[in-house]
Amino acid sequence: IFINNEWHESTSGKKFPTYNPSTLEKICDIEEGDKPDVDNAVEAAKAAFQRGSPWRQMDAPSRGRLLHKLADLLERDRVTLATLETMDTGKPFLQAYFIDLEGCIKTLRYYAGWADKIQGRTIPVDENFVCFTRHEPMGVCGAITPWNFPLLMLVWKMAPALCCGNTLVIKPAEQTPLTSLYIGSLIKEVGFPPGVVNIVPGYGPTAGAAISTHDSIDKIAFTGSTKVGKLIKEAASKSNLKRVTLELGGKNPCIVCADADLDLAVECAHQGVFFNQGQCCTAASRVFVEEQIYPEFVKRSVEFAKKRLVGDPFDARTEQGPQIDQKQFDKILELIESGKKEGAKLECGGLAIEDRGLFIKPTVFSEVTDNMRIAKEEIFGPVQPIMKFKSIEEVIRRANSTEYGLTAAVFTKNLDRALTLASALQSGTVWINCHNALYAQAPFGGFKMSGNGRELGEYALAEYTEVKTVTIKLSQKSP
Ligand code: ADP
Repeated sequence: IFINNEWHESTSGKKFPTYNPSTLEKICDIEEGDKPDVDNAVEAAKAAFQRGSPWRQMDAPSRGRLLHKLADLLERDRVTLATLETMDTGKPFLQAYFIDLEGCIKTLRYYAGWADKIQGRTIPVDENFVCFTRHEPMGVCGAITPWNFPLLMLVWKMAPALCCGNTLVIKPAEQTPLTSLYIGSLIKEVGFPPGVVNIVPGYGPTAGAAISTHDSIDKIAFTGSTKVGKLIKEAASKSNLKRVTLELGGKNPCIVCADADLDLAVECAHQGVFFNQGQCCTAASRVFVEEQIYPEFVKRSVEFAKKRLVGDPFDARTEQGPQIDQKQFDKILELIESGKKEGAKLECGGLAIEDRGLFIKPTVFSEVTDNMRIAKEEIFGPVQPIMKFKSIEEVIRRANSTEYGLTAAVFTKNLDRALTLASALQSGTVWINCHNALYAQAPFGGFKMSGNGRELGEYALAEYTEVKTVTIKLSQKSP
């Protein structure tokens, strides 16, 4: 437990294990934080945010410099961090190294650049008044992160929070605390003042709830399930109405029109759903294919899925590792069974890999209809449901008929169709002829029950600042 730039044992004396999902071996025991530890972390974060503290007195370019230095250390320790991430999550090492770590470093540098460019406006009001706004830090920010991209989701919250001058109390997911804890040691090495970043590993209903209900936490950013997102918002409203940013689930449509570049569409749809063992809120988990090309699209998608290499995440050839834990593994297999029972055609996969713990065969279903559970529920596993459509109006209606609205992808060479779909689809992100194209500069977040607010880009700054309006009455009217 990292508080005030020091390591602490849990107040309760309890620890919890973290496992390697590809071998099912215990990696180590972690201090189990709970409410008293969160209280200590919040006290430290509050003190670090006091008026006159070293952090509050630090000028904005120096805050930017600290974020750049943190990015330098992530570059220096990139192999170690990617190794820890692979051990704790089971994701292929090369993906951890080239995608997760790359995203972390770029996001830190992007927000390092923003630190001294956060400015308000001058607003013309009555003649003898001057009115301007200040964009001030909110105070103590809570961050609760998921297990699918542990470090990246932490950096998406930490970088804008620190760049705006806030302090932080972070709770990593209980399945994957290792890289977040490693960040603690880097925070200290960089020279952030004590108390600016505090990290309390532990479980959701205990340590997590202690953050969401805390009266001295001014803002909370959460990435995880829609179910827990609702609890977070409820806890915020029952406590101090802390600001809430939520990045939740998705059941994301991927629309492939008959005029699309088929090679591109098949490969992007494949990567879009199978990337990270299917454990992505952005997963292309409802593929709608125009009827003329449906049989060919299914055939090629099955070829891709059958070729996907599943195995040891530290083997450089591996494309897919294990699912994160038994609970997720069981849930995915149960949804696969529901697909079979409800009449979808199983084209390949559909089973666990025998004697290999938590590995699941890449699975493709065709002849999927909108009322089947695999077309409605977030699977969070290596399962590709493929549906058929006839007209653009029809596919817009079907794509939008979900409580979620995180991402959508469209494959077409027709500009008019692309833009019609981009405006009609109810989702925070629309990718045209690509998938998972995420950038630190571009905002990311959900419509509807996929979330509240935006992470990344300039937009995220608004989630970590309060606007203060200052109005001054001049003693004399100007001539
Ligand atoms: P999943 O179901 O995929 O594990 P969750 O939404 O449960 O996703 O977990 C995401 C994060 O939310 C984790 O850090 C978890 O510990 C935390 N969490 C779970 N339950 C709660 C809760 N009641 N209050 C606050 N945080 C929670």
